[in-house]
Amino acid sequence: MALLHNLGFPRIGANRELKFALEAFWDDRISDAQLLQQAADIRMQNWQLQQPLDWIPVGDFSLYDQVLDMSFCLGNVPTRISKLDGSELDRYFRTARGRAAKSDTEPCLHASEMTKWFDTNYHYLVPEVTADTTFSVNSARLLEPFNEARNAGIKAKPVIIGPVTYLWLSKAKDESHRLDLLPRLLPVYSQLLEALADAGAEWVQIDEPALVTELSPEWKHAFEFAYHTLKANRPNLLLTTYFGTLQENLRLACHLPVAGLHIDAIRGRDEVHRVVDWLPAHKVLSIGVIDGRNIWKTDLNATLDWLEPIAARLGERLWLAPSCSLLHVPVDLDNETDLDPEIRNWLAFARQKLTELMVLGKAINQGRTAVATELAANQAAIVSRQQSSRVHNPLLTQALEAITPEFGQRQHHYAQRAPKQAAHLQLPLYPTTTIGSFPQTAEIRKARLAFKQQQLSWSDYQAGMKTEIERAVREQEALGLDVLVHGEAERNDMVEYFGEQLEGYVFSRFGWVQSYGSRCVKPPILFGDINRPNPMTTDWIKYAQSLTDKPMKGMLTGPVTMLNWSFVRDDQPRRQTCLQLALAIRQEVLDLEAAGINIIQIDEAALREGLPLRRSEWQNYLNWATECFRISANGVRDETQIHTHMCYSEFNDIIEAIAQMDADVITIETSRSDMELLDVFEEFEYPNEIGPGVYDIHSPNIPDQEQIIHLMGKAAERIPDKRLWINPDCGLKTRRWEEVIPALQNMVSAAKALRQSA
Ligand code: GLN
Ligand code: ZN
Repeated sequence: MALLHNLGFPRIGANRELKFALEAFWDDRISDAQLLQQAADIRMQNWQLQQPLDWIPVGDFSLYDQVLDMSFCLGNVPTRISKLDGSELDRYFRTARGRAAKSDTEPCLHASEMTKWFDTNYHYLVPEVTADTTFSVNSARLLEPFNEARNAGIKAKPVIIGPVTYLWLSKAKDESHRLDLLPRLLPVYSQLLEALADAGAEWVQIDEPALVTELSPEWKHAFEFAYHTLKANRPNLLLTTYFGTLQENLRLACHLPVAGLHIDAIRGRDEVHRVVDWLPAHKVLSIGVIDGRNIWKTDLNATLDWLEPIAARLGERLWLAPSCSLLHVPVDLDNETDLDPEIRNWLAFARQKLTELMVLGKAINQGRTAVATELAANQAAIVSRQQSSRVHNPLLTQALEAITPEFGQRQHHYAQRAPKQAAHLQLPLYPTTTIGSFPQTAEIRKARLAFKQQQLSWSDYQAGMKTEIERAVREQEALGLDVLVHGEAERNDMVEYFGEQLEGYVFSRFGWVQSYGSRCVKPPILFGDINRPNPMTTDWIKYAQSLTDKPMKGMLTGPVTMLNWSFVRDDQPRRQTCLQLALAIRQEVLDLEAAGINIIQIDEAALREGLPLRRSEWQNYLNWATECFRISANGVRDETQIHTHMCYSEFNDIIEAIAQMDADVITIETSRSDMELLDVFEEFEYPNEIGPGVYDIHSPNIPDQEQIIHLMGKAAERIPDKRLWINPDCGLKTRRWEEVIPALQNMVSAAKALRQSA
């Protein structure tokens, strides 16, 4: 008998109930008790959905973030927070979100740093440690939901983050080495495990995804040390890895003294046989056979063809699960009543994935005939997707085959293009510009909603947006900016706007996935070959250009960002999909150029997000990512200036790739780092132009002229002034006009002052 279990379920709720409860709580519209009750309701619903499984995760739910929960469970709360009075809930949210000062005497409290959870778009709160960090167990945080589940008759399996991954995720706030804390941390884990055993836990899922990354010998040793220490504790440990392959850590993972191992058989299918060979005979092997990172139906028959012989070898030792927590997929496809039925039939969200798991389990335990109907329906869906002419467009295959190396080449090097652009554009020293969007006002949002709900005609909507564009252009002219933008009034979101106009994309209505805390994203679904039937932006940009003699910058989202912020096909390599996107953007770039637009910006905010977990795989990704950017950008004449924009990013280890992209101008977020981010551009002798952000658009503060001059001075120490631009850090869509105008006034006057003193 194979057992079925799950590693984690989305906690945001099918209708984002948690998000709305959190926001109500933070606005003081509901009480602590009401928030906790809402949370308990969502937990209970999730457990009930999972009830048919043999083991159901408990402790995967979180009010904000599971890593922050672990920090609280281990008594590792930053001292600036732990010394505050107030409730634990209050301290928890203060760690997560910080708090602005309410009076002059009260200091403002900064939140813990947030960063990407492995290679997902989920962000966790980085545990803070120092040489003095001590830990103390707070097992109630886990025992409460555990008892709640058990009282409801749920077969609960507590989920915790393992001690090595916990330290691997933390950041030392002093010079100390975080791994030195392991001996202090382990006794607290032991206490926690014992408390769970006392409460009746048989199995504990202990997540150690750090095992799929490249580990130095000391981290490998830490795994040995930790698990040889924890083996004295009573609960059976299921050591859980996901998001990749174990590779050189495979033997280590197999031999740690635990009762079971979970591996990701979606990303690491080729390793499963080796794991079966290496795993000691008394251990359970949990195989993650359902993709927890994507929204496609599993090919159940193909999975069974592969799984049945393994199941025969493992017998009672086999457990089946999704590859990772289902946190990274939306909750319930049944809500998507508007989705194209043909495409919906190819999809599975979290609930549907659990159903797939149950079908697989039954087929393994009772034979395929026990689920013949389900398997036949699945087969039909898989074949429908494989054969659909909406997925496969022969013209696209031809277009990809026709790509030659020239597609990625500009006519000449930057050094030869730059003077031609300068002659053509006639820009002053330190040209000023903005990143694309201007405030998305309430009127804009109202108009878009009315248009979507068919209460506003296309021509009325268009007229409304044109008014907004005109306003943005007039304001920019009055400010005296050098390169203008149209302001992106017509765009809901930088990926969705383009996806909606491309063949090969669909959009869910409720396909929300948690990004962090109460923040969710709704990634578009890229299901088929990408084709651009019509120009997507030219009418708007041409209109904007018609209003002014200043150069108008065309504004596009780049192929790599489109890819990294979408759910994408699993039936072809990511590079292939990205090349198709690149061709579509390339057509748009050429149409903009033909329409007389001389500057075109292609945003690649998410370039870095696509980096694989293992460094050894970085170069391959960066090669095709830059290739795709170049294909999208480089069809233009020398005189046409290509810009790219990247949000806050570490450039140190990818500077070569950034230079490879060869945009004439790159704008980046730098205002909060005092221009230190430019060090690497200086060291690398980055040859093209750079616009380091001088206005932190995330903050309501208005930068003054002196500050901007100071920042540009720092920039000019690193990059020759002839190659510097002046611009904000990012788009201004989240700010109000009342904030934007004075900030940009100061920016323009700073540029004027700098030109005078140059
Ligand atoms: N052009 C976009 C804007 O200004 C860029 C947004 C981003 O980088 N995230 O809104
Ligand atoms: Zn940005």
